[in-house]
Amino acid sequence: MRQELPVIFELGQPGRTALDLPECDVPAVPVEDLIPAPMLRREAPDLPTVSQPELMRHYTALSRRNFGVDSGLYPLGSCTMKYNPKVNEDIARYAGLAQIHPLQEPGSVQGALEILFNMEKYLAEIAGMDAVTMQPAAGAHGELTGLKLIMAYHRHRGEERCKVIIPDSAHGTNPATAVVCGLETVQVGSNPDGSVNLAALRQAVDRDTAALMLTNPSTLGLFETNITEIARIVHEAGGLLYYDGANANAIMGMTRPGDMGFDVIHFNLHKTFSTPHGGGGPGSGPVGVKKELIPFLPVPVITFDGSSFGLDSDRPLSIGKMQAFFGNFGVIVKAYAYIRTMGPDGLRQASMDAVLNANYCLQQLKDVYQAPFDRICMHECILTAKGQKEFGVRTLDIAKRLLDYGFHPPTIYFPLIVEEALMIEPTETENKETLDRFITVMKAIAREARENPAIVREAPQTTAVRRLDEVTAARKPVLRWQRQSKL
Ligand SMILES: *Cc1c(COP(=O)(O)O)cnc(C)c1O
Repeated sequence: MRQELPVIFELGQPGRTALDLPECDVPAVPVEDLIPAPMLRREAPDLPTVSQPELMRHYTALSRRNFGVDSGLYPLGSCTMKYNPKVNEDIARYAGLAQIHPLQEPGSVQGALEILFNMEKYLAEIAGMDAVTMQPAAGAHGELTGLKLIMAYHRHRGEERCKVIIPDSAHGTNPATAVVCGLETVQVGSNPDGSVNLAALRQAVDRDTAALMLTNPSTLGLFETNITEIARIVHEAGGLLYYDGANANAIMGMTRPGDMGFDVIHFNLHKTFSTPHGGGGPGSGPVGVKKELIPFLPVPVITFDGSSFGLDSDRPLSIGKMQAFFGNFGVIVKAYAYIRTMGPDGLRQASMDAVLNANYCLQQLKDVYQAPFDRICMHECILTAKGQKEFGVRTLDIAKRLLDYGFHPPTIYFPLIVEEALMIEPTETENKETLDRFITVMKAIAREARENPAIVREAPQTTAVRRLDEVTAARKPVLRWQRQSKL
């Protein structure tokens, strides 16, 4: 069932316009003089012809169908959908930051270079690393950069190491990155308490081990207490440790990957450091390294000689460029504003609150949905709807039913090693009233599953669209609207 909302091309009448342009007051130049003939479009583009009110109402209606952190709780585990303070947006729009060009001479963009330089220092401090590059454009891109750095490091020492060890709880981008780099992946299993199986790890490491990729806290929301022993095992075999810090919301100011023994790390500014994400928007995945890996960092490196900032591309061991210019600068500015407004104590408090909120949800819900790991969790908690299966209700149904109650569902069926998983990350930006409403609704859905499972199985009932064919949407997406008949 679909509630039709026309696309904008289906609205309006020929000749209508939402904007009156003033008369042109400069001499008209023939378009042929501006654009080379082969690139010139002969027919006018088929643009919408709508009035201003039609335009306004159309996009307002669309925006009301959307759901984001500005509409309500968005507890999507591993994604850290925290509130994005609006002051960050204001600052990123300052003309001195938004209107500059990446090809300007360094002398004319000292402020922008200073922001990049300072940001590298802040992130190095938070991570316990010696240097940072701001180039990577996303978490997965940070992983790619990190593994390239690790490969360059081994190669420089005359070693070709071809294997990456990855725990079975890992985020899918970890093995994907290793494969893109032409490396082999070796999976190690987890113990019943969710920690890495050390015996399996000892078996897995050898002279081919290039790196171990690990998330700590893991994607199970659990802190890996054996991390120093894990680091010792990998280092003794000559491998390096890569920290997937996409989601560092539990550790800011509490502990540092560098102190745990990690050699390379990426952060997602668009998760931990509050820049907006989702919908394929721009991200930023800075990579930090220990000093042994500094020579291999992407170029240009931002330099400071005590009086001015500059760019250094004369680095013979560099892996090269990973991204046009300096990374997604606007995103970096927003995260910079976030770090500066929070300060060290604020970041630490954010982590403590994020962990508190996740544990509150876990404790309140674990009697209704089973907790596969009954331990203190970090910034996210895992529950399972295994118990609801006997009523014919699955995790997907519960997620859909949450939509009827006005909540964005948590992450579901991930991590893969937990049956019927629900992965809840409330973040520090939610207050107790919101969490209590969410908990009440989750309990109400559990009751419905028992007493009226059909209503859960047929959810959502109240949304603009009902159940979508998600498999077809993923496998055969229709990405381009085609006009049925011309007006
Ligand atoms: C989100 C996430 C990634 C990937 O980050 P992108 O910016 O989406 O590429 C990698 N690892 C973990 C643990 C994540 O949560």
